[in-house]
Amino acid sequence: MSGDLTTLLTRELGADRVLRDEAQLEEYGRDESGLGPYPPDCAVLAESAEEVALVLRLADEHGVPVTPRGAGSGMTGGALPVRGGVVLSTERMRRVLEVSHEDLVAVVEPGVILGELQTLVEAQGLFYPPDPASLAFCSLGGNVAENAGGPRAFKYGVTREYVIGLDVALVGGERLTLGRRTSKGVTGYDLVGAFVGSEGTFGVTTGITVKLLPLPQGVATLLAVFPGITEAGRGISAILASGFRPRALELVDKNTIDHIRARAPYPFPTDAGAVVIAELDGEPEGMEAASLRCAELLESGGATDVVVAQGESDRRRLWESRRLCSPALKEAHRHKINEDIVVPRGSIPEMLRRVERLTELTGLPVATFGHAGDGNLHVNLLCDEDRTRHDVARRIDRGLEQLFRDTLELRGTLSGEHGIGLAKQRYLPLEQSPGLIAWQKKLKRLWDPKDLLNPGKIFP
Ligand SMILES: Cc1cc2nc3c(=O)[nH]c(=O)nc-3n(C[C@H](O)[C@H](O)[C@H](O)COP(=O)(O)OP(=O)(O)OC[C@H]3O[C@@H](n4cnc5c(N)ncnc54)[C@H](O)[C@@H]3O)c2cc1C
Repeated sequence: MSGDLTTLLTRELGADRVLRDEAQLEEYGRDESGLGPYPPDCAVLAESAEEVALVLRLADEHGVPVTPRGAGSGMTGGALPVRGGVVLSTERMRRVLEVSHEDLVAVVEPGVILGELQTLVEAQGLFYPPDPASLAFCSLGGNVAENAGGPRAFKYGVTREYVIGLDVALVGGERLTLGRRTSKGVTGYDLVGAFVGSEGTFGVTTGITVKLLPLPQGVATLLAVFPGITEAGRGISAILASGFRPRALELVDKNTIDHIRARAPYPFPTDAGAVVIAELDGEPEGMEAASLRCAELLESGGATDVVVAQGESDRRRLWESRRLCSPALKEAHRHKINEDIVVPRGSIPEMLRRVERLTELTGLPVATFGHAGDGNLHVNLLCDEDRTRHDVARRIDRGLEQLFRDTLELRGTLSGEHGIGLAKQRYLPLEQSPGLIAWQKKLKRLWDPKDLLNPGKIFP
């Protein structure tokens, strides 16, 4: 069946757009989760919404699964074609169709790289805040599917807050326009809200309308040094309790700093037991006073030193260094099991205390960093042994289960931004009731009755 479809797609779209080469298919069977590979039968490089719809129509007729793919930077295996079939890549749909100053919106194709959109709108005095650390290479389509977030979510919220309209194509080839272009609107159900974060299981996004903001003119970035992670947790709590609102409040623990230090363009202090990066924005004339206030709060929480990044290039170096956290850990270890739990803000210090116990439980080093102001922590179990070995797998499982149980005990949630995908589905029942899971499966069946679109994801 699938072979027939590959032949048909090749005839319709041309051989250069339907990849069948073994090495290429292995590439399209991987993402940043480290799971797989799950090579598809073919990978289609769509160039338009019409072509996406065509693939979905023909796949439906042949009963072949389709897995949407953006840039393949997902951390939970969402883009992996676990049941084979077609990988439908939007990487060639990279046009920014419109940037409107009057309406404060941008309209883009799903393959547009996030960082490129940000550079483009910022040059025009506009601002698209969501800033996952993968912004240099992840796509807007993937951001929508995963409801991506980043440091600036602390003040500005995640992708969901900015997506107001979507063009989608469904299994069978039907195309729909969801949502609106206006800043407000409650006509009918909020289907944009349902599609954002649906991990590519409801439909394939072919067009995205996002809200823009005026670009803040004043920005200041501070780095606070703490003796250890517990004190850093206290520093974060001091800011949260005061009502003071930076746009980002990030934590990096000692183990992570040690991994990035050699290649980080920003010189992290050698005596840091943990650092907190705080970034403020607003009117330029208010930045100095705001920076002072922020530094005082961090010091009241136990910071031994607070340095302010000097100028734009210093700021950029600091954030580039922060974005190295994940790649540096990944390069240094055979396996990096990266979780992205979230706890209510008041429980951040307690969660950090519990995370510190994971090494004792598993015998594995743990590195923690992330969007601490939101209670969203990337807890990484680092492993240099073969994780398929039974005893190693059991230690990892034990650690993950404890991490998730602690998170839920503190009334948190399993994933703040990476989604469930393939990697976390077996833990979903720890958080969600059988009834809730059953209702979500019904919702999935409504959009995709034959379970052809990105099958085998989210649900255990
Ligand atoms: C170093 C690094 C740092 C990261 N930091 C962050 C971070 O700070 N915050 C964060 O949120 N994430 C982060 N991520 C994870 C990842 O970059 C995001 O999840 C991103 O949104 C995925 O985008 P992508 O284009 O690579 O999607 P892919 O990996 O290709 O796909 C992800 C999911 O989206 C679906 N999908 C993709 N395109 C479409 C489409 N057009 N229609 C329907 N479904 C689609 C896929 O089926 C899959 O389920 C990081 C990843 C890396 C490697």
